[in-house]
Amino acid sequence: MRAPPNTASDVSLMDSLASKVSSLLRPEILALSAYHVQDSSGYIKLDAMENPYDWPETMVEEWLARLRAAKPNRYPDPSAGRLKGALRTVNEVPDQAGLMLGNGSDELIQIILMAIAGTDAVVLAPEPTFVMYRQIGASLGLRFVGVSLREADFSLDMDAMRDAIRTHQPAVIFLAYPNNPTGNAFAREDVLEVLKLAPNLVVIDEAYAPFADSTFMPKLAEFDQLLVMRTLSKLGLAGLRLGLLAGHPAWIEQLDKLRLPYNINVLTQISAEFALSKYEVLDAQVAHIREQRDALSAAVQALPAVKVYPSQANFLMFRLLNADATEVFGALKQAGVLIKNLHPAGGLLRQCLRVTVGTPTENQEFIAALGNILKA
Ligand code: PMP
Repeated sequence: MRAPPNTASDVSLMDSLASKVSSLLRPEILALSAYHVQDSSGYIKLDAMENPYDWPETMVEEWLARLRAAKPNRYPDPSAGRLKGALRTVNEVPDQAGLMLGNGSDELIQIILMAIAGTDAVVLAPEPTFVMYRQIGASLGLRFVGVSLREADFSLDMDAMRDAIRTHQPAVIFLAYPNNPTGNAFAREDVLEVLKLAPNLVVIDEAYAPFADSTFMPKLAEFDQLLVMRTLSKLGLAGLRLGLLAGHPAWIEQLDKLRLPYNINVLTQISAEFALSKYEVLDAQVAHIREQRDALSAAVQALPAVKVYPSQANFLMFRLLNADATEVFGALKQAGVLIKNLHPAGGLLRQCLRVTVGTPTENQEFIAALGNILKA
């Protein structure tokens, strides 16, 4: 790789490279903006829906002992058979359903969309929602149709959904349940109606299932075109990168052909299997986070001119009624607290911020900082 240009001939070389890049690569790639991850070093990190709790020391020791047996010189089990067994149990995947694993559920979204790319297929999702459905769809040249949620409560606008499904006959509908970034779970009867109306696949993305009161996993037995996706990221294993997709074997067998061999590495397989064998530890952490979510929600709502939306996830979305979200986001950062500014996305997210539920201390520091900023 060359150094940055500083002479006229360097500049012309760079120009010719830039024109080669743009003529070789697909226009949809050139048009993409990269998924931006904020630099979080040194901050109280409440931006990415991670579980804030460490494992007890004895559990860490036991894990390290398991890792001693890892063989980094060998490829991992390509089907991750034992891990899949454990995942089936804790996620209550119906016996008759097929199951495939991804390097995070992001990879599974990509695999589903790769499988339909190249046709004139439409991908449909209510918006605002998890941005990767649109982003990955765009990278593959798929047409994406976003159907606005209802402004008052971010519920599905069923009239608009019915219309859009009828008009566009989507190849895939994504429903994040609960939804990110709004935090609500859509009404069950609305989701069931979408399942009945959908001409093709419906992916219910249950990334936040540990924090929610309801799931569509048992509905796999009833709907052949339903895929249920989950991740271990929010449960407390974000660093391992492990997602799962359950559905009728007729779909899973085909999608699995697109999965690169050995996508779940040796360390992830051993570590996730170990963590799932201590599910009660993760479960207790989840219970704690759920309690803290309710306390945090009440504390944010008690601040002046703020509207907090109900959440069934491990984060809260709130709107500033009397202050500028981007300024408040910046001031929180100055105070050492990193959250997510949703305002730049515009539309229904104007003046909205999203905060992940942290430890009680982190939450208190966030509330104190936000209270000071809003008072100022
Ligand atoms: N789905 C939803 C709704 C999400 O919010 C996220 C992460 N923010 C993901 C999927 C991706 O999770 P991961 O790739 O870590 O499994």
